[in-house]
Amino acid sequence: MLEVITGCMFSGKTAELIRLLERMRIAKLKIAVFKPKIDTRTQNQIKSRNGNELEALVINDPKEILDYVVQNQVDVIAIDEAQFFSEELVDVCDELADLSYHVIVAGLDTDYLDKPFETMAQLIAKADKITKLTAVCMECGAEATKTYRWRNRKDRIIVGDSDMYKALCRKCYAMNMRAKHKRPINMRFGYEPRTKTSK
Ligand SMILES: [Zn+2]
Repeated sequence: MLEVITGCMFSGKTAELIRLLERMRIAKLKIAVFKPKIDTRTQNQIKSRNGNELEALVINDPKEILDYVVQNQVDVIAIDEAQFFSEELVDVCDELADLSYHVIVAGLDTDYLDKPFETMAQLIAKADKITKLTAVCMECGAEATKTYRWRNRKDRIIVGDSDMYKALCRKCYAMNMRAKHKRPINMRFGYEPRTKTSK
């Protein structure tokens, strides 16, 4: 089966991944965890903000997962920060799931401009099970689903934390994007927001 854990930053994706894997480890399943080289926050491990961690193999190319699995006895394959991998990861996960491995992928669904990460979009479409987690809006306390970059940097991928990003609800995200960009990518038709709620 192919399972995807997704959501914005600060939604606890890695914590959820670790929780699922710990449960499986208790059931004596053999687990292999992979993460991309681009994520420099931790070495050879995945770490949740609540302090839990698991050993992980750092790889560049998704095909390295296949090589590893062929050479080692594994039941469950977990991949964290999957949005940083090329779309080849989709085929790798698909094949592994078809070969009856349990594949669990965690990653961001969209970037700071609310544009889907292509690898994740495809994985979500192909998944047998999807968990979309939410964070708490760092401006109003509502349920947050968007990753907002409050520092002015233009590259799509910048590894950062709360020094760079905020989790926001849709409303606060739209307000911030409107204030910051003349025509935000997520509001390209340029309509004004609805002001009154009809009863
Ligand atoms: Zn909000």
